[in-house]
Amino acid sequence: MKTLIYKGKGQVELQDVPKPDCPPGYALIQIEASAICGSERQALIHGYPGNTGHEACGIVVSPTTPSFERGQRVGLYAIQSCRKCTRCRSGQEIHCPTASVSSDWHSEFVALPLAALRRLPPGTPPDIGVLITGDTLGLPTRALSRAPSSPGETVLVVGLGPTGLGHIALRAHSGANVIALGGPEIRQRLALKLGASEVLRSPQHLRSKPSLVIECSGRAEQIIDALESVADGGTVIESAGCSTELRLPSSDHFVRREITHTGVFYYASENYDEMLRIATSGAPIRPICTHYVTAQRAQQSIDDFLDRQTGKVILQWS
Ligand SMILES: [Zn+2]
Ligand SMILES: [Zn+2]
Repeated sequence: MKTLIYKGKGQVELQDVPKPDCPPGYALIQIEASAICGSERQALIHGYPGNTGHEACGIVVSPTTPSFERGQRVGLYAIQSCRKCTRCRSGQEIHCPTASVSSDWHSEFVALPLAALRRLPPGTPPDIGVLITGDTLGLPTRALSRAPSSPGETVLVVGLGPTGLGHIALRAHSGANVIALGGPEIRQRLALKLGASEVLRSPQHLRSKPSLVIECSGRAEQIIDALESVADGGTVIESAGCSTELRLPSSDHFVRREITHTGVFYYASENYDEMLRIATSGAPIRPICTHYVTAQRAQQSIDDFLDRQTGKVILQWS
């Protein structure tokens, strides 16, 4: 089968590898569509033994189980965990001590534990299946549950990568007044299309302080800016990892101003019903996808992704 290999410096190559084994308790899935996640940037730049793809949708090749039939289209859930501990049993497997993120999904086939298969609403096309079961809907839905916003409330979204765009779409759909910050022009236009009321270049241009800031850039200075920008008593939710150590004046922000600073990492089973509800309620998630390419032609779109000139890139495998 074909799989994408990350060679480093943004270069990818389609290579032939053996089809994965499918041990008992696993399903073999023929991938129809996979998506490039914003978190794959570093692996694309520095190289990886295989690829870090972890958002995909495909067809069950085998086996048929009480829950899934051969030939059925399913979305895939990337967290692998013990499925026995209290966190797993309560639908929070992202906090399982053994949790890890599956990878190599930019491939023609993957073999995954049956627990990774997610049912999709009838008639869901592959690209929407990827969005529903991947970061695009998962992170914003989890963020909504951790830091809800009311209709009319002003929410600032900082950083307009695919995840930031997902937050914009969901918050606007839920009735919030969404202000977008940053991004190249193509992503600013997308932000407006997805429901942002305006796009700003700098937090200094805010007319009033928002009660919720969703930080998606992963840059230390932007996280500090987010804490400065949020209203007293408000919440800053980090939705991208930041590898730089932050020095935060805790008395100023967390004691005197009573700011809540939290984060979201992917989604968990406990969020999936709400994700399905949002996906079928008309939330405008498809416009987040700007590039549809066959796996053979992935390189050009990956170049554009690394230049921050894309929304979500969808690779088509069959
Ligand atoms: Zn991801
Ligand atoms: Zn567990």
